[in-house]
Amino acid sequence: GLTGQKGWSRQWRDPEPKPHYDVVIVGGGLHGLATAYYLAANHGVKNIAVLEKGWLGGGNAGRNTTIVRSNYFRPGNREFYEHSLKLWENLSHELNYNVMFSQRSHISLLHSPGAIDAAARNYNILRRTGTPDAEIWDLATLKRAVPHLNYSPTSRFPIMGAAVQKRAGTARHDAVAWGYARGADKHGVDILQQCEVQGITREGDSVSAVETSRGTIRAGKVAFAVAGNTSRLWTMAGLGKLPIESHKLQAFVSEPLKPLLDQVVVFGIGGAHFYISQSDKGGMVFGGDLDWYKSYAQRGNLPIVQDTAEAAMSILPCLGRVKLLRHWSGLVDMSMDGTHFLCKTPLSNLYLNAGWNYGGFKATPASGWYFADLIANDRPHEKIRNFDLKRFERGLQIDERGAGPDPK
Ligand code: FAD
Repeated sequence: GLTGQKGWSRQWRDPEPKPHYDVVIVGGGLHGLATAYYLAANHGVKNIAVLEKGWLGGGNAGRNTTIVRSNYFRPGNREFYEHSLKLWENLSHELNYNVMFSQRSHISLLHSPGAIDAAARNYNILRRTGTPDAEIWDLATLKRAVPHLNYSPTSRFPIMGAAVQKRAGTARHDAVAWGYARGADKHGVDILQQCEVQGITREGDSVSAVETSRGTIRAGKVAFAVAGNTSRLWTMAGLGKLPIESHKLQAFVSEPLKPLLDQVVVFGIGGAHFYISQSDKGGMVFGGDLDWYKSYAQRGNLPIVQDTAEAAMSILPCLGRVKLLRHWSGLVDMSMDGTHFLCKTPLSNLYLNAGWNYGGFKATPASGWYFADLIANDRPHEKIRNFDLKRFERGLQIDERGAGPDPK
């Protein structure tokens, strides 16, 4: 359909690397690009490069299941994700790029009286602290909204109700990467693709340059936003171990169907681990658990296909004859308490953005916003004070199990 179209202009430039930048951001995923955009747009930093070893959005940015929500309830995370959701609500406007943010409701199924009580507690906290759209639905309300779930009382995990966030939903992940890239480029940020960081040059306790596949680039400040590759970069910088493990997370899309599901549905509280929504093209987009072993391989495997298909069948048996179109894997950076790091590091001009677990897509705008603020001002904003590497020493882990009260 596009073959007759000609003369498309570039969305961003393809410059040669300069020998020096004031800020070098390693990683051209969502968080690196958002950081570059807010550094330039909010803080007026001029001389910035984003270094990406492959193509923009080729990592988790283009591999996730695009769920956006703010129903985290630990202090710190709650405010962070609510700030992110508010930025999402204006993002297409801010970037002048349609990121297709669709606030279609996030429905977490509840399968026991205990789960209903726990969800009611969490969602009451959300309502009282600035997230007014958190609701608990009884079974009758849920059945009216999503009539074709498996409501059999004899099922393995009978559905008894749901915890719902109505402003939550999905967005188009590629568009988010491209929108931030175009916005950053317009502010003069150099986006350097096929530019892998292969070494870090230090002068004492600071970084002086990065060694890349396109030559040496000197830097005033260096920021890591490389998700599942964080430990590799950390080692290059000559630093010790991080409280992060890299795991594979797989996702799936079916052949396109007529409209079937208007919401994001999550089967996770006291049941299996499964989440599903329908894309604008009609494909059912879904995923499940981690692979539960550490790996840098971005490829899927059959045990997770089986596990996820079983979970799908147990709540949406109508999917039984649907064909799977594609299946892939990304590389997620799992932290020990399920919460991220946005912080300074032992090196004076090196900054860390990592530990997004299952959930860094929804965090993108706030992550970029706060990380840019940290880099520009060389001190953590009050709201991200506890997202540092020393919180474990202080006994301050922010325990969200990687995903907040809902596992996705
Ligand atoms: P990435 O896109 O991975 O960016 C990091 C970039 O760094 C990559 O492009 C990589 O090539 C580059 N890089 C690495 N090493 C180097 C180097 N040495 N030199 C230069 N560049 C380098 N989150 C949600 O909120 N909702 C979801 O529904 C959701 N679903 C998910 C489903 C799956 C299958 C996966 C894998 C993840 C999901 N996530 C979800 C998590 C989310 O995608 C990630 O947390 C988030 O994308 C991570 O940030 P990023 O986009 O910056 O990472």
